Amino acid sequence: MSFTILTDLKVSGKKVLLRCDLNVPIKDGVIGDDGRIRASLPTIKYLIENGASVVIMAHLGRPKNGPAPEFSLAPVAHRLGDLLGTPVVFSSQVVGGETDAKKAALKSGEVLLLENVRFEASETSKDDGERKDLAEKLTKTMDYFVSDGFGAVHRKHASVYDVAKILPHAAGFLVAAEIDVLRKLSVNPERPYGVALGGSKVSDKIGVIKNLLGKVNVLAIGGGMLFTFLAAQDHEIGRSLVEKDLIDDVKNLLEEAKKIGVHILLPSDIVVAPTFAIDATPTIVKADAIPADQIGLDIGPESAAAFAAALVQCKTVFWNGPMGVFEFPNFAHGTKTVAQALTEVSGISVVGGGDSAAAIRKLGFNDSQFGYISTGGGASLEYLEGKSLPGIEVLENA
Ligand code: ADP
Ligand code: MG
Repeated sequence: MSFTILTDLKVSGKKVLLRCDLNVPIKDGVIGDDGRIRASLPTIKYLIENGASVVIMAHLGRPKNGPAPEFSLAPVAHRLGDLLGTPVVFSSQVVGGETDAKKAALKSGEVLLLENVRFEASETSKDDGERKDLAEKLTKTMDYFVSDGFGAVHRKHASVYDVAKILPHAAGFLVAAEIDVLRKLSVNPERPYGVALGGSKVSDKIGVIKNLLGKVNVLAIGGGMLFTFLAAQDHEIGRSLVEKDLIDDVKNLLEEAKKIGVHILLPSDIVVAPTFAIDATPTIVKADAIPADQIGLDIGPESAAAFAAALVQCKTVFWNGPMGVFEFPNFAHGTKTVAQALTEVSGISVVGGGDSAAAIRKLGFNDSQFGYISTGGGASLEYLEGKSLPGIEVLENA
């Protein structure tokens, strides 16, 4: 399996349709963490410097009923222009007269960002014909498609999948780098191989846990989802987060682990509090003795140290999902300890997931302390689940 890389295309003087993931948090028109915009820069810069005219498609959030100002990419056009050091033309439409005119006027080395591609209902349609119609409008007058929106490659969407059926295409630098890292995690990873999973929901991650179970040497579970594991072992979990409908699935998973001799590392102590609040008073309790009126908000210090010790001796480590409610300083210790362990790994360490990446930055770590920070939570997880990613499959050369 291989695909054409951006550097294999002769882009000079060509019109390149580029999919990026510019889905950044925006509140009242102000951009929060712009990591995804920054991660898109190498490909955009390469295209500009090599004389292409660049038309960027991207999405923001999940608009349900067509255009809505809070989902506009206009603020992103400004930030992108600032980061590139060159103005970015913005079209207030995805397709239509304004977009066609701006595409036609675009010169070599110039960049046009289209409005949120999800303002077109066809973008996410299950109907192949509807998506194809939109893809035809998007690709009109374009010479190449470059796929660099890694965070969306697990979606069979018009701007991710169908456009690649129409135009000669290549993977951008970000997609190529992400896939390269995921392959390292999946095909003969250097051992020991350790995985730490946390975050809020078991439902997001149970597929990955199942698929990785027989492949890893260390599997540590923290975050909000650990309480579904404790509940599956018939422990009291107080008022902690739990997905009751998954308790049976988790029971089966624990059985399966036992059968194949894999030790799932679960916390031995928990930091609890009476309320879900930034100023709630933390107390450390044993994992099998959570008081009925308390909420578990972090793994305890003993568990954090045990997780760190197990991970640090691994040669390949993948971490997705904060170990606790790191947004509250009193409950950030577990996440910080695991992040610290990743910075000390002698082999490859990979951080996946939007909140996990935000957590390490908020907790004062530097991106460069980690082997790789993935931009795509869902896409990475689906890859590690063993699912095929439509936006990658469509790029692959037969
Ligand atoms: P990622 O984006 O890295 O994949 P998730 O979206 O799955 O991570 O989960 C991140 C969220 O999980 C964070 O906002 C964090 O506060 C929350 N979380 C972690 N531990 C707990 C807990 N014990 N109870 C409730 N929420 C938790
Ligand atoms: Mg998240």
